[in-house]
Amino acid sequence: MTGAGDAGRSREACPVCGAHALHLLYFPDVDLSGVRPMDDLIGMGDLKAEQPPGIGCEACGSEWDALDDFRVAQRGR
Ligand SMILES: [Zn+2]
Repeated sequence: MTGAGDAGRSREACPVCGAHALHLLYFPDVDLSGVRPMDDLIGMGDLKAEQPPGIGCEACGSEWDALDDFRVAQRGR
């Protein structure tokens, strides 16, 4: 059996530092100075809040906004 020791390791290595410590970044969907009760009342809210997560490296702190950016970093090193 293999792979038992891979828990907690990302499948792919960080293109910057090589660590298998990548994780998904979820952008906070609340970037407001306060509550917006009107949005809740309307209920049709901001569909643009549905953004794909970025990718970050816990080892060196590098971040990529999207998978495409990450792939570019992998190829461009
Ligand atoms: Zn890294």
